[in-house]
Amino acid sequence: MSGAEPGLVSLVGAGPGDPELLTIKALRALQRADVVLHDFLVSDEVLDLARREARRIVVGKRGHGPSCPQSEINRLIVSLARKGHRVVRLKGGDPLFFGRAAEEIDACREAGIEVEIIPGITAAQGAAASLGVPLTDRDGSPRMQFISGHGRNGDLPEDFDATILADRSVLTAIYMGRRTFARLRDMALAVGIDPHTPAMAVFSATRPEQHSIGGTIADLPERISSQPSAEPVILLLGWALRHAVREGACPRGECPGEADETLPTNRRRVA
Ligand code: SAH
Repeated sequence: MSGAEPGLVSLVGAGPGDPELLTIKALRALQRADVVLHDFLVSDEVLDLARREARRIVVGKRGHGPSCPQSEINRLIVSLARKGHRVVRLKGGDPLFFGRAAEEIDACREAGIEVEIIPGITAAQGAAASLGVPLTDRDGSPRMQFISGHGRNGDLPEDFDATILADRSVLTAIYMGRRTFARLRDMALAVGIDPHTPAMAVFSATRPEQHSIGGTIADLPERISSQPSAEPVILLLGWALRHAVREGACPRGECPGEADETLPTNRRRVA
């Protein structure tokens, strides 16, 4: 569709992979889209739900590989909307979590183009739900934090402060953390994190190929080092994870807390 009136830009959360985790609002936006600009992380099953006639354009980047520059993505969004198209900018998970949404929102606003944001299930939520692991737990870890393991230079973010990991009452979800995980672990141990802190890596969360590996902050980086690097992985750290094994989250002998028979199960806790 094209016309004199500028179109609408929808920043849509595609969720972590399972198409049934899309919101109804996201589905409606996909079904009225003229153009869908999507990241590599968006699953084919979600893309299949877009209007058949909608043009699909892949932008964004895969892992640490070459990327479409953000300025180019902004330019494309604005120029398509100016032609009157209904543009869906489809991002993995939730668009407001590590999605560079602010830059795209600013570009639209500066160009006088209406922009709406449709939230999605973020990777940490998808992973936790499929493992039956609470993200907050009023007895164990009443707070949580979302951090990125990847700064502009490809290493840990320049302002990364490992002391934020040492607080036992916080569960941490680390996005884009695979490559820097061993370094993050070393820094966390150096500032006094308990080396027994349960840790879990969830690969391809909510997708048919999902799998997870449990361990501790001390040993998980090595445990996951042989996994294929193309798969997205979310890293979870914190004491709320110690119950995961009782819920069958990972193979026996692989999970943190398995030997501790005194720990109550999630189910008993929430009952
Ligand atoms: N906006 C997204 C995050 C984008 S950053 C969200 O809300 O989920 C990209 C990182 O998200 C990946 O490096 C990985 O750490 C995580 N991720 C996204 N989808 C995932 C999935 N299905 N399984 C595991 N991790 C995922």
